[in-house]
Amino acid sequence: MDAQRTVRRQISCVGIGLHSGNKVNLTLKPAPADFGIRFRRTDLGHHEVPATVDNLAGIQLATGLASNEVAVETVEHLLAALVSVGVDNVIIELNSPEVPIMDGSAAPFVYLIHEAGVKPLPAARKFLKIVRPIAISRGDKRIALYPSDHFKVTYSISYDHPLLRHQSRTIRITEDSFVDEIAPARTFTFLKDVEMLRQNGLALGGSLDNAIVLGETGVLNNALRFEDEFVRHKILDAIGDLALVGYPVIGHLVAHRAGHALHTEFAAKILDESQSWKLVESPAETLAVPLAAAVKAAAAPRLAN
Ligand SMILES: [Zn+2]
Repeated sequence: MDAQRTVRRQISCVGIGLHSGNKVNLTLKPAPADFGIRFRRTDLGHHEVPATVDNLAGIQLATGLASNEVAVETVEHLLAALVSVGVDNVIIELNSPEVPIMDGSAAPFVYLIHEAGVKPLPAARKFLKIVRPIAISRGDKRIALYPSDHFKVTYSISYDHPLLRHQSRTIRITEDSFVDEIAPARTFTFLKDVEMLRQNGLALGGSLDNAIVLGETGVLNNALRFEDEFVRHKILDAIGDLALVGYPVIGHLVAHRAGHALHTEFAAKILDESQSWKLVESPAETLAVPLAAAVKAAAAPRLAN
């Protein structure tokens, strides 16, 4: 049995909101078993917004949530860090609508969680194990989950840009692989889109400190952290958006040219298709286990005779 976990102690950081450009205080606080991941707006009467598909709102360039008109935005990098480091239950306090963008990756959040430490709680973790494929496609954008004994992600992207004609990566997600291979990958944007975003009052906090900016032929930043940092960041976004199902997923996620809108639509579809998964207490648990138990139970009265 895997125990549910929370952060060992309260911890805070300060950053800026990508879109507002405003300073934001973020605090992670321990929470009890079966509490889940909930945002709390300290500037709005501590109103809570649970990180679930039911509260999805305003998917544009990032993933937003809202409950009773109280919003939290740009949640995906923090959610990806929490679920990948194995934090099931936590209170995330914010004094502004946006989760701070930090350096555009999940690495600062991993650092924060590791600094706080993680502790087990006296309750079993439940995993959402895929037993039949679930898929969505919209034109050439696709996303699907297939049965697997582990959580794996295959992502491929292609953009009309010399650096991004095609990138693809498959990775089994464990805490270590996430921390080393995925968390440091930064968000990216195209220079031609930056002006448009600014005119619409978005990305006011955006800079080369928190995003890779792609010019006509290359990147404006000094260096990439990985040669295929772009597709790694898409994997990071998908993990964060998938966290909204409320359980760690055991299955092989395969996505092509998807984005937040498709990721989150897919997260909602997973919960709707309840015949395609089951909740288990161990990732290795298979359908054969309850079947064997059922056979044994059926045989028991005869054996007793
Ligand atoms: Zn992202």
